[in-house]
Amino acid sequence: MSIAYMKPMLKKAQSEKYGIAAFNMIDYNSARAVVDGAQELNAPIIIQLSVKTIKIWGFKPIGDWVRSLSESVDVPVALHLDHCKDLDVIQRCIDAGWTSVMFDGSSLPFQENIRQTKLAYDIATSAGVGLEAEIGAIGGTEDDKFVAEDDAILAVVDECVEFCQYFPDLAVFAPAIGTAHGVYKGEPKIAYGRLAEITSAVDIPIALHGGTGLAADQFSRCISSGCAKVNISTMHKLQFIQGFTELKDQKPNLGEPIPFIEAQYEHMKTGVKNMIALFGSQGKA
Ligand SMILES: [Zn+2]
Repeated sequence: MSIAYMKPMLKKAQSEKYGIAAFNMIDYNSARAVVDGAQELNAPIIIQLSVKTIKIWGFKPIGDWVRSLSESVDVPVALHLDHCKDLDVIQRCIDAGWTSVMFDGSSLPFQENIRQTKLAYDIATSAGVGLEAEIGAIGGTEDDKFVAEDDAILAVVDECVEFCQYFPDLAVFAPAIGTAHGVYKGEPKIAYGRLAEITSAVDIPIALHGGTGLAADQFSRCISSGCAKVNISTMHKLQFIQGFTELKDQKPNLGEPIPFIEAQYEHMKTGVKNMIALFGSQGKA
């Protein structure tokens, strides 16, 4: 099928209390592993990209890859732009076929975040594309942005309510609830109480950032509390690398690239299927 819109996928996930995995694709092979893993488990799936990755491959090649992959399966595949502050990049993604974009104004003062998010919201909604927006400060490293774990700030409930009033058609909302990007240094400290307060006050599907390294019970608690989009980036990147290095260790003299590509594909696809099963989205396409 053609590339799917994220908002209806997430609304359904929110009401039925399962999570849709959103993987940060690396290259064509990684997108192929994500889409095929979803197809094998009959699950809806989100492919998302950091701005850094788009700069390597270009807008149009990525749009074309994901479109052709999506057309090769019968599960919904959404194409989403992860953390972005640049309205020009947002527009170029929409032009190349993205069905969803994130504007991340979380480093801005609250009122300025609202003002700039509104610009992105108008661009996205006038194109029929979903918008993800963030408040608070999610810890860790994402693209070129680093937030020390001590500087991570939980989203304030009253601000979540006020923020979302400006954006009634928001596809997904990303309040900081204590998770962090990258690899956790200590035990992740998820603010479940804050998450519950936010989801009872705001009826928009929530995005869980910093999914890599959370335990099964942490995922299920977040998902049952309203997290409908679960971002997995670091784990997928590690599997991309491990798929290669494990084969290299086993067969150090192998000079043919195709077995490496296939090993990476199988490694990533296994990870994708594990996450889909964990988030309860198997069979939900
Ligand atoms: Zn994130």
